Amino acid sequence: MNVLEETKFLMKKYKIKANKSLGQNFLIDDCVIQDIVDGAKIEKEDLVIEIGPGLGSMTALLVERAKKVICIEFDRKMIQILNDRFIAYNNIELINEDVLKIDLKELIKQEKEAKQIKNIKIVANLPYYITTPIIMKLLESNLEIESITVMIQKEVADRLIETPSGKNTGAITYTVYYYCEAQKIREVENTSFIPMPEVTSEVINLKLRKKPAVQVENTKVFFNIIKSAYMQRRKTLLNALVNTGVFRNKEEGLDILKKLNLKEDIRAENLTIEDFARLTNLFCTRIK
Ligand code: SAM
Repeated sequence: MNVLEETKFLMKKYKIKANKSLGQNFLIDDCVIQDIVDGAKIEKEDLVIEIGPGLGSMTALLVERAKKVICIEFDRKMIQILNDRFIAYNNIELINEDVLKIDLKELIKQEKEAKQIKNIKIVANLPYYITTPIIMKLLESNLEIESITVMIQKEVADRLIETPSGKNTGAITYTVYYYCEAQKIREVENTSFIPMPEVTSEVINLKLRKKPAVQVENTKVFFNIIKSAYMQRRKTLLNALVNTGVFRNKEEGLDILKKLNLKEDIRAENLTIEDFARLTNLFCTRIK
Protein backbone atom coordinates (compact mmCIF):
# COMPACT_ATOMS: atom_id res chain seq x y z
CA MET A 1 0.00 0.00 0.00
CA ASN A 2 1.26 3.50 -0.73
CA VAL A 3 0.78 6.38 1.73
CA LEU A 4 -2.33 7.67 -0.01
CA GLU A 5 -4.05 4.26 0.18
CA GLU A 6 -2.88 3.77 3.76
CA THR A 7 -4.17 7.20 4.84
CA LYS A 8 -7.58 6.58 3.26
CA PHE A 9 -7.70 3.12 4.85
CA LEU A 10 -6.84 4.42 8.35
CA MET A 11 -9.24 7.37 8.11
CA LYS A 12 -12.07 5.01 7.12
CA LYS A 13 -11.20 2.33 9.69
CA TYR A 14 -11.00 4.77 12.61
CA LYS A 15 -13.69 7.15 11.26
CA ILE A 16 -11.27 10.09 11.22
CA LYS A 17 -12.20 13.53 9.97
CA ALA A 18 -9.20 15.85 9.84
CA ASN A 19 -9.45 18.36 12.68
CA LYS A 20 -8.82 21.78 11.13
CA SER A 21 -8.32 23.51 14.46
CA LEU A 22 -5.39 21.14 15.16
CA GLY A 23 -3.82 21.87 11.78
CA GLN A 24 -4.39 18.31 10.57
CA ASN A 25 -3.24 18.01 6.97
CA PHE A 26 -2.03 14.47 6.43
CA LEU A 27 0.82 13.80 4.03
CA ILE A 28 -0.11 11.44 1.21
CA ASP A 29 3.00 11.64 -0.97
CA ASP A 30 5.65 8.92 -0.52
CA CYS A 31 8.36 11.01 -2.21
CA VAL A 32 7.84 13.97 0.14
CA ILE A 33 8.02 11.72 3.20
CA GLN A 34 11.21 10.17 1.86
CA ASP A 35 12.73 13.61 1.20
CA ILE A 36 11.92 14.87 4.72
CA VAL A 37 13.43 11.81 6.38
CA ASP A 38 16.47 11.85 4.06
CA GLY A 39 16.87 15.60 4.72
CA ALA A 40 17.00 14.90 8.46
CA LYS A 41 20.04 12.65 7.89
CA ILE A 42 19.01 10.16 10.55
CA GLU A 43 21.58 7.63 11.73
CA LYS A 44 21.07 4.32 13.48
CA GLU A 45 22.11 5.67 16.93
CA ASP A 46 19.89 8.77 16.79
CA LEU A 47 16.88 9.66 18.87
CA VAL A 48 14.18 11.32 16.78
CA ILE A 49 11.50 13.47 18.34
CA GLU A 50 8.53 13.72 15.98
CA ILE A 51 6.06 16.52 16.67
CA GLY A 52 2.49 15.84 15.52
CA PRO A 53 2.86 12.36 13.99
CA GLY A 54 -0.86 12.21 13.09
CA LEU A 55 -1.66 8.86 11.49
CA GLY A 56 2.02 7.92 11.49
CA SER A 57 2.90 8.16 7.78
CA MET A 58 6.34 9.63 8.49
CA THR A 59 6.72 7.71 11.75
CA ALA A 60 6.67 4.44 9.77
CA LEU A 61 9.92 5.43 8.07
CA LEU A 62 11.45 7.00 11.18
CA VAL A 63 11.12 3.84 13.31
CA GLU A 64 13.08 1.94 10.65
CA ARG A 65 15.93 4.45 10.59
CA ALA A 66 16.41 5.65 14.19
CA LYS A 67 17.34 4.01 17.45
CA LYS A 68 14.26 5.46 19.08
CA VAL A 69 11.36 7.70 18.06
CA ILE A 70 9.43 9.78 20.57
CA CYS A 71 6.14 11.06 19.17
CA ILE A 72 4.45 14.05 20.75
CA GLU A 73 0.82 14.24 19.61
CA PHE A 74 -1.98 16.33 21.07
CA ASP A 75 -4.91 14.40 19.56
CA ARG A 76 -5.79 11.34 21.64
CA LYS A 77 -7.46 9.64 18.66
CA MET A 78 -4.15 9.72 16.80
CA ILE A 79 -2.39 8.20 19.80
CA GLN A 80 -4.81 5.24 19.71
CA ILE A 81 -4.13 4.70 16.00
CA LEU A 82 -0.36 4.97 16.48
CA ASN A 83 -0.54 2.53 19.36
CA ASP A 84 -2.24 -0.08 17.17
CA ARG A 85 -0.09 0.64 14.15
CA PHE A 86 3.29 0.34 15.86
CA ILE A 87 2.49 -2.33 18.45
CA ALA A 88 5.25 -4.58 17.11
CA TYR A 89 7.95 -1.93 17.53
CA ASN A 90 9.88 -1.51 20.76
CA ASN A 91 11.70 1.67 19.72
CA ILE A 92 8.74 4.05 19.80
CA GLU A 93 7.25 6.07 22.65
CA LEU A 94 4.00 8.01 22.33
CA ILE A 95 3.34 11.11 24.41
CA ASN A 96 -0.16 12.55 24.38
CA GLU A 97 0.66 16.20 25.12
CA ASP A 98 0.70 19.70 23.73
CA VAL A 99 4.24 20.23 22.41
CA LEU A 100 4.15 23.82 23.63
CA LYS A 101 3.57 22.66 27.22
CA ILE A 102 5.96 19.75 27.44
CA ASP A 103 9.34 20.13 29.19
CA LEU A 104 11.59 19.13 26.28
CA LYS A 105 14.78 19.85 28.19
CA GLU A 106 13.87 17.37 30.92
CA LEU A 107 12.66 14.79 28.37
CA ILE A 108 15.96 14.98 26.48
CA LYS A 109 18.00 14.83 29.69
CA GLN A 110 16.25 11.62 30.75
CA GLU A 111 16.73 10.01 27.33
CA LYS A 112 20.42 10.93 27.22
CA GLU A 113 21.00 9.43 30.66
CA ALA A 114 19.06 6.24 29.94
CA LYS A 115 20.34 5.32 26.48
CA GLN A 116 23.40 5.43 24.34
CA ILE A 117 22.23 8.05 21.93
CA LYS A 118 24.46 9.75 19.40
CA ASN A 119 22.35 12.73 18.38
CA ILE A 120 18.86 14.04 18.88
CA LYS A 121 16.97 15.24 15.83
CA ILE A 122 13.56 16.86 15.60
CA VAL A 123 11.44 15.94 12.60
CA ALA A 124 7.92 17.13 11.84
CA ASN A 125 5.21 18.10 9.47
CA LEU A 126 4.20 20.89 11.83
CA PRO A 127 0.66 22.05 12.62
CA TYR A 128 0.76 25.40 10.77
CA TYR A 129 -1.35 27.34 13.28
CA ILE A 130 1.52 27.19 15.79
CA THR A 131 4.61 27.02 13.54
CA THR A 132 6.37 30.07 14.98
CA PRO A 133 5.81 29.33 18.70
CA ILE A 134 7.08 25.77 18.19
CA ILE A 135 10.22 26.89 16.32
CA MET A 136 10.90 29.60 18.91
CA LYS A 137 10.50 27.09 21.73
CA LEU A 138 12.89 24.64 20.06
CA LEU A 139 15.49 27.37 19.52
CA GLU A 140 15.22 29.26 22.79
CA SER A 141 15.05 26.31 25.20
CA ASN A 142 18.75 25.63 24.78
CA LEU A 143 18.11 21.98 23.93
CA GLU A 144 20.86 19.48 23.26
CA ILE A 145 19.68 18.78 19.72
CA GLU A 146 21.56 18.42 16.47
CA SER A 147 18.96 19.56 13.96
CA ILE A 148 15.34 20.44 13.25
CA THR A 149 13.82 19.26 9.96
CA VAL A 150 10.32 20.54 9.46
CA MET A 151 7.67 21.16 6.86
CA ILE A 152 6.00 24.54 7.31
CA GLN A 153 4.24 27.17 5.17
CA LYS A 154 6.54 28.34 2.35
CA GLU A 155 6.10 32.00 3.27
CA VAL A 156 7.31 31.38 6.83
CA ALA A 157 10.06 29.03 5.65
CA ASP A 158 11.50 31.67 3.32
CA ARG A 159 11.68 34.10 6.22
CA LEU A 160 13.39 31.58 8.51
CA ILE A 161 16.09 30.54 6.06
CA GLU A 162 16.87 34.04 4.75
CA THR A 163 20.26 35.59 5.51
CA PRO A 164 19.77 38.62 7.80
CA SER A 165 19.17 41.80 5.78
CA GLY A 166 18.15 39.78 2.67
CA LYS A 167 14.78 40.53 1.05
CA ASN A 168 12.67 38.12 3.16
CA THR A 169 14.16 39.21 6.48
CA GLY A 170 11.99 39.62 9.57
CA ALA A 171 12.94 39.69 13.25
CA ILE A 172 12.73 35.88 13.39
CA THR A 173 15.37 35.59 10.63
CA TYR A 174 18.00 36.86 13.09
CA THR A 175 16.91 34.39 15.77
CA VAL A 176 17.22 31.43 13.41
CA TYR A 177 20.55 32.65 12.04
CA TYR A 178 21.90 33.25 15.54
CA TYR A 179 21.26 29.62 16.54
CA CYS A 180 21.36 27.68 13.25
CA GLU A 181 22.62 27.13 9.75
CA ALA A 182 19.44 26.93 7.68
CA GLN A 183 18.82 25.15 4.43
CA LYS A 184 15.87 24.61 2.12
CA ILE A 185 15.18 20.99 1.24
CA ARG A 186 12.21 21.29 -1.10
CA GLU A 187 8.86 22.88 -1.81
CA VAL A 188 5.67 20.84 -1.49
CA GLU A 189 2.44 21.54 -3.39
CA ASN A 190 -0.83 21.49 -1.46
CA THR A 191 -1.95 18.43 -3.49
CA SER A 192 0.41 16.31 -1.35
CA PHE A 193 -2.00 16.48 1.64
CA ILE A 194 -5.45 15.35 2.74
CA PRO A 195 -7.17 17.74 3.23
CA MET A 196 -5.32 20.25 1.01
CA PRO A 197 -4.00 23.29 2.91
CA GLU A 198 -4.54 26.68 1.29
CA VAL A 199 -0.83 27.40 1.07
CA THR A 200 2.28 25.94 -0.54
CA SER A 201 4.64 24.26 1.93
CA GLU A 202 8.39 23.96 2.26
CA VAL A 203 10.70 21.54 4.03
CA ILE A 204 13.67 23.14 5.77
CA ASN A 205 16.59 21.86 7.79
CA LEU A 206 18.01 23.89 10.70
CA LYS A 207 21.37 22.64 11.92
CA LEU A 208 22.13 23.97 15.40
CA ARG A 209 25.43 25.84 15.55
CA LYS A 210 28.02 24.74 18.12
CA LYS A 211 28.52 28.44 18.89
CA PRO A 212 26.04 31.25 18.14
CA ALA A 213 26.70 33.26 14.96
CA VAL A 214 27.67 36.38 16.94
CA GLN A 215 28.72 37.11 20.52
CA VAL A 216 26.30 39.21 22.54
CA GLU A 217 26.37 40.31 26.17
CA ASN A 218 22.70 39.55 26.70
CA THR A 219 20.52 37.59 24.27
CA LYS A 220 17.28 38.97 25.73
CA VAL A 221 18.40 42.55 25.04
CA PHE A 222 19.70 41.51 21.60
CA PHE A 223 16.42 39.97 20.47
CA ASN A 224 14.39 42.77 22.06
CA ILE A 225 16.34 45.40 20.09
CA ILE A 226 15.81 43.43 16.85
CA LYS A 227 12.12 42.92 17.57
CA SER A 228 11.63 46.60 18.37
CA ALA A 229 13.52 47.68 15.23
CA TYR A 230 11.37 45.40 13.04
CA MET A 231 8.11 46.37 14.74
CA GLN A 232 8.41 49.69 12.91
CA ARG A 233 10.54 48.58 9.99
CA ARG A 234 9.42 51.38 7.66
CA LYS A 235 10.76 53.98 10.08
CA THR A 236 14.45 54.70 10.62
CA LEU A 237 16.15 52.51 13.20
CA LEU A 238 16.59 55.58 15.39
CA ASN A 239 12.87 56.46 15.39
CA ALA A 240 11.81 52.84 15.80
CA LEU A 241 14.02 52.36 18.86
CA VAL A 242 12.97 55.69 20.40
CA ASN A 243 9.24 54.96 19.76
CA THR A 244 9.46 51.50 21.31
CA GLY A 245 11.32 52.81 24.36
CA VAL A 246 14.66 51.06 23.76
CA PHE A 247 16.47 54.42 23.55
CA ARG A 248 15.39 56.86 26.23
CA ASN A 249 15.46 59.73 23.71
CA LYS A 250 16.75 60.78 20.30
CA GLU A 251 20.00 62.20 21.70
CA GLU A 252 20.93 58.91 23.33
CA GLY A 253 20.12 57.05 20.10
CA LEU A 254 22.11 59.45 17.94
CA ASP A 255 25.10 59.12 20.24
CA ILE A 256 25.00 55.30 20.07
CA LEU A 257 24.64 55.25 16.27
CA LYS A 258 27.55 57.67 15.90
CA LYS A 259 29.81 55.55 18.09
CA LEU A 260 28.96 52.52 15.92
CA ASN A 261 29.55 54.44 12.67
CA LEU A 262 25.95 53.84 11.61
CA LYS A 263 24.13 56.49 9.58
CA GLU A 264 21.40 58.50 11.31
CA ASP A 265 18.79 57.43 8.74
CA ILE A 266 19.68 53.73 8.59
CA ARG A 267 16.74 51.26 8.67
CA ALA A 268 16.51 47.91 10.46
CA GLU A 269 16.74 45.93 7.23
CA ASN A 270 20.10 47.52 6.40
CA LEU A 271 21.74 46.21 9.57
CA THR A 272 23.66 42.98 9.52
CA ILE A 273 23.46 40.62 12.49
CA GLU A 274 26.96 41.82 13.44
CA ASP A 275 25.65 45.42 13.53
CA PHE A 276 22.83 44.40 15.87
CA ALA A 277 25.36 42.56 18.05
CA ARG A 278 27.60 45.66 18.26
CA LEU A 279 24.57 47.80 19.04
CA THR A 280 23.49 45.40 21.79
CA ASN A 281 26.92 45.20 23.35
CA LEU A 282 27.35 48.99 23.43
CA PHE A 283 23.82 49.40 24.75
CA CYS A 284 24.54 46.86 27.53
CA THR A 285 27.64 48.74 28.72
CA ARG A 286 25.50 51.89 29.05
CA ILE A 287 22.69 50.31 31.07
CA LYS A 288 25.01 48.53 33.51
N1 SAM B 1 2.74 14.02 10.65
C1 SAM B 1 1.43 13.82 10.09
C2 SAM B 1 1.53 13.81 8.59
O1 SAM B 1 2.53 14.36 8.07
O2 SAM B 1 0.63 13.31 7.94
C3 SAM B 1 0.44 14.88 10.57
C4 SAM B 1 0.86 16.31 10.37
S1 SAM B 1 -0.41 17.49 10.71
C5 SAM B 1 0.15 18.82 9.67
C6 SAM B 1 -0.01 18.14 12.31
C7 SAM B 1 -0.20 17.19 13.49
O3 SAM B 1 0.13 17.90 14.69
C8 SAM B 1 -1.59 16.65 13.69
O4 SAM B 1 -1.54 15.26 13.88
C9 SAM B 1 -2.11 17.35 14.95
O5 SAM B 1 -3.04 16.59 15.69
C10 SAM B 1 -0.82 17.58 15.71
N2 SAM B 1 -0.87 18.71 16.65
C11 SAM B 1 -1.59 19.85 16.55
N3 SAM B 1 -1.34 20.66 17.59
C12 SAM B 1 -0.43 20.04 18.37
C13 SAM B 1 0.21 20.37 19.60
N4 SAM B 1 -0.02 21.53 20.22
N5 SAM B 1 1.08 19.48 20.13
C14 SAM B 1 1.33 18.29 19.50
N6 SAM B 1 0.74 17.92 18.34
C15 SAM B 1 -0.13 18.78 17.78
